[in-house]
Amino acid sequence: MTQRRILIVGGVAGGASCAARLRRLSEDVEIVMFDRGSYVSFANCGLPYYVGDVIKEEDNLIIASPELFRQRFNIEVRLHSEVAAIDREGRSIEVRNLASGETYSETYDELVLSPGAKPIRPDIPGIDLPGIFSLRTIPDSRLLRKWIDAQNATRAVVVGGGYIGMEITENLLHRDIEVTIVERQSQLMPVVDAEIVTVVQDSLEENGVDLYLDETVTGFELEGDRSFNLSLASGGQVKSDLVVLCMGVQPENALARQAGLDIGESGGISVNSQMATNDPHIWAVGDAVEVHNVVTEQSTVMPLAGPANRQGRLAADVITGRQSAFRGVQGTSVVGVLDQVLAFTGPSEKELRRLGLWEQMEKVYLHPGHHAGYYPGSNPITLKLIFNRQDGRVVGAQAVGKGGVDKRIDVISMAMQMGATVFDLEEAELCYAPQFGSAKDPVNIAGMIAANIMRGDVSVAHWETALDGDALILDVRDPEEYRGGHVEGAQNLPLDQVRDSLNDLPRDREILTYCYVGQRSYYAARALGHYGFKVRNISGGFKTYALR
Ligand code: FAD
Repeated sequence: MTQRRILIVGGVAGGASCAARLRRLSEDVEIVMFDRGSYVSFANCGLPYYVGDVIKEEDNLIIASPELFRQRFNIEVRLHSEVAAIDREGRSIEVRNLASGETYSETYDELVLSPGAKPIRPDIPGIDLPGIFSLRTIPDSRLLRKWIDAQNATRAVVVGGGYIGMEITENLLHRDIEVTIVERQSQLMPVVDAEIVTVVQDSLEENGVDLYLDETVTGFELEGDRSFNLSLASGGQVKSDLVVLCMGVQPENALARQAGLDIGESGGISVNSQMATNDPHIWAVGDAVEVHNVVTEQSTVMPLAGPANRQGRLAADVITGRQSAFRGVQGTSVVGVLDQVLAFTGPSEKELRRLGLWEQMEKVYLHPGHHAGYYPGSNPITLKLIFNRQDGRVVGAQAVGKGGVDKRIDVISMAMQMGATVFDLEEAELCYAPQFGSAKDPVNIAGMIAANIMRGDVSVAHWETALDGDALILDVRDPEEYRGGHVEGAQNLPLDQVRDSLNDLPRDREILTYCYVGQRSYYAARALGHYGFKVRNISGGFKTYALR
């Protein structure tokens, strides 16, 4: 009996996962994996840290070599082999050997596409000058390292403030290079809400990074033989010894498009939940495909390593006859920037507003310690939880802080995947010892605050509208805290004096309470509510006000 022949295009996250899983599930298939690059199965996510010399050896980026694939899994890997065309009728691909220039064809029974996504390089004058880099492959990072060393680079511009921009900035700082970030939008990490990124932006500026927000690069010019002048849309100029383009990625869909496979509006290859394209013998996974966002119900691309790996594994399941299905994505991500960690899951508030979904939503802000305050080294986490006001379903969360951020977002992410409500977060049983968390974990507290709102125990207000009406803004902190900084027009009435001052507070005007993080003002709001006052608590208190 002839073996089924499975060809895989792209040998990194999605492709390599698919190949190895295929072999584990069957010894009766022939597997050949093609990659146009010089490596398969390497750690793209480690590249910025190799540039920063945190990862010192290039070999550490390589997870599995072609020899390992052959010896351990009986999988054939062909490097420098670009798949140039697909003949769907004849079930064959055309392969170009980039080393020899030779072209040949190979037939398949099943074809898996995992070609990834390519960095966006807009048509800006001078963009192809030497010293302007994108970061996708090991050779890219090697060239960037070499340039830094050879030019004795001391100044860099990072174009784009998304997560790769953040990571490369941190690593250039490790190399004692001064960094300027140019970002088209009004904030870094545009995928999350602006107030959550403030801490990260402050931390970068404290470390000497120049931020140009609401700004675009319009041209690159050489100045001498080792420096650049970057022209900005506002008319300004920035000088630099190197440039790293981190302007996002776009799905590598040319091969699929040429083969007449369906492409979604996002540019990703259309697949069903079994990662099948519109051709029953062609499958596609990873950054190149369009996926279903389970929270917003939108089709989108989600260029992240986790989904790519899981999809590769899942395609192998389906190809070998299992009924697996991809659940979809909700965008759970984390990025470390200097001493801050920023993580999120689900859509941001601004994305929900853009989609017209905000009407049903509510949000809370909290700033708990990442572990018990009495144990040394506790640092605050700023956490924003978004939930559906009708049924309490958790819709998204964003958090920033020096530690414990990823753990909280992962818990909430998993809870969301199980359809959890804020009442589930309130009740969640989580591990605790003083150096790791609190008996009421930040996840529990987020659930409790939101559940209080859902049950009508407290009404919530937010800073963006709190100052618009004629409500009395009541600062219930101690006088020293109030004197150290307060919201203009706020009246100070420390929490412990609230019950003695009931006759001094207005009954014909709404009262909005705030304190530093929202806890004491919640106590005040509860007490005032019992005495018949019309009162709301401003979520997240003065600390959230200061983030705006
Ligand atoms: P890739 O891993 O990009 O592999 C695609 C391969 O296909 C490439 O080797 C390419 O050369 C090859 N190829 C393409 N077309 C052809 C063709 N026609 N013929 C032959 N070969 C072809 N994700 C995270 O979740 N967390 C992170 O911290 C993170 N950090 C990252 C940092 C960097 C610098 C980069 C670049 C990415 C990072 N990612 C991160 C994203 C993550 O690496 C990707 O989501 C993941 O690698 C996608 O897997 P893939 O198989 O779809 O594509």
